Amino acid sequence: MSKKVIVIGSGFSSLSAACYLAKSGFEVTVLEKHSTPGGRARVLKKEGFQFDMGPSWYWMPDIFDTFFKDFDKSTEDYFKLHRLDPAYSVHFSDNRQITIGSGLEKIISSFEKYEPGSRHKLEKYMKSSHRNYQIAMSKIVYRPCLTIFDLLTRETILNAKYFIQNIKKSVYRTLKNPDLRLVLQFPSLFLGAMPSRTPSFFNFMNYADFGLGTWYPDGGIGSVVEGMVKLAKSLGVEFKLNASVQQITANYNGEVSGVIVNDSYLKTDIVVSGADYRHTEMLLEKKYRMYSAKYWSKRVFAPSALLFYIGFDRKLDGVTHHALFFDVDFETHIQSIYSNPKWPENPLFYANFPTVTDSSIAPSKKESCVLLVPIATGLESDEKQHQRIFGQIMDRMESRFGLSLRKHILFKEVYSIDDFRRDYSSTEGNAYGLATTLNQIAHRRPKFKSKKLKNLYFTGQLTVPGPGVPPALISGKIVGQYIAKMEEMGS
Ligand SMILES: Cc1cc2nc3c(=O)[nH]c(=O)nc-3n(C[C@H](O)[C@H](O)[C@H](O)COP(=O)(O)OP(=O)(O)OC[C@H]3O[C@@H](n4cnc5c(N)ncnc54)[C@H](O)[C@@H]3O)c2cc1C
Repeated sequence: MSKKVIVIGSGFSSLSAACYLAKSGFEVTVLEKHSTPGGRARVLKKEGFQFDMGPSWYWMPDIFDTFFKDFDKSTEDYFKLHRLDPAYSVHFSDNRQITIGSGLEKIISSFEKYEPGSRHKLEKYMKSSHRNYQIAMSKIVYRPCLTIFDLLTRETILNAKYFIQNIKKSVYRTLKNPDLRLVLQFPSLFLGAMPSRTPSFFNFMNYADFGLGTWYPDGGIGSVVEGMVKLAKSLGVEFKLNASVQQITANYNGEVSGVIVNDSYLKTDIVVSGADYRHTEMLLEKKYRMYSAKYWSKRVFAPSALLFYIGFDRKLDGVTHHALFFDVDFETHIQSIYSNPKWPENPLFYANFPTVTDSSIAPSKKESCVLLVPIATGLESDEKQHQRIFGQIMDRMESRFGLSLRKHILFKEVYSIDDFRRDYSSTEGNAYGLATTLNQIAHRRPKFKSKKLKNLYFTGQLTVPGPGVPPALISGKIVGQYIAKMEEMGS
């Protein structure tokens, strides 16, 4: 008889783990506390508009391809992808703007215009970025990293200098133009740490950006969730929504025995949790937890976020699908997130207008918009701060686009740090997990396998390999394949 696995949560990591486990013959049940799947990638529907609540950048298409290929499927079986051109625009002070096109050569040539003579250095930088991408994908990120030995490969040892230097320094060595320097540091923000604390090995994110490009699945990231749920169901995975796990139980042999969900007991052989790592441990008796409050207090979390989901009553001229507003001081905002946590005085922000590409996700001739402001973890939601920041953002966008945006707002929904705590039991209100610093990579991240309880596993953005949708897919694969291997070996 096949063994039962309960997967907690239906974020990307849980969906991925569920698929791999079902393929290996386990009887898999996903328990999700919300009424819809997807976790941070849930979809908000309002007045005919449809918003991706979390991720909106589809990067590293190769990882999605690999995922579906593992099940003899392809992305086209579930959603239609487009490579965006332009990929995104970046707005700087004094109305300066850089548009990132599609394709490395095009981008390098455009950089050359802003900084004559940059071509050679940028090509060299991108070569190292490409090489690091290949090393990361083939030698590191798919490994369980339970010990340092998974990180110590011939390639990583030969490239050890990239783990000692930081991204900021290597970018500064490559380019002089302050705007271009910010553009080159931007992808590292997905990793959740300051560029000055992110090892330059992670410059592979620049290859993900310029080399592999920015893509869009029709219908938004929600279509990817839908596709994965469909795949999981076809493999036999059962989904229970509105199912909040209150406790994970263990027996005297130090094995997980079941979970309590909506006050009922469900027996199981194995538990994989894609919920917040610390929250999962809080569902256990204290003696079974691996990491103490002190441990968590010393971690560097990726930022939290203040989000606005807005429906506009008309199309907006001049906006791009993805737009970064780096028109205020970068360092001041970064410090308000990491060194001196407080509400940013005048924040950088990201504006997403997916209806530029896809009119199917809003009523005809209307524009949908998501605004994202990264903020420090540990803050409390504060209505006054939300309003102040929204006002600042509107002023800046109105002057930039020469439009009176406010009078065209049909509705606006606010999502802030307390919502992350409430909806995802997110430690410190983090939006996307643990930051990728030297101390928090590979074997230095919380382990995906419990040392205290046999048959308890973790997946998702707080364990290996790290934050982001592609890493969540990989995380599910690591745990799914590991469990299958252990069962095969009979241990
Ligand atoms: C605003 C925002 C923007 C982002 N932008 C991007 C982007 O553009 N590109 C990108 O690649 N990444 C992006 N990310 C990061 C990416 O979305 C996440 O890293 C990834 O989706 C995390 O997946 P996960 O499975 O680890 O966790 P989650 O998605 O958080 O899944 C955890 C699940 O567990 C459930 N759960 C929690 N507790 C319980 C319980 N007790 N019982 C049952 N269920 C429970 C939750 O409801 C949730 O469904 C963004 C994140 C945010 C928040």
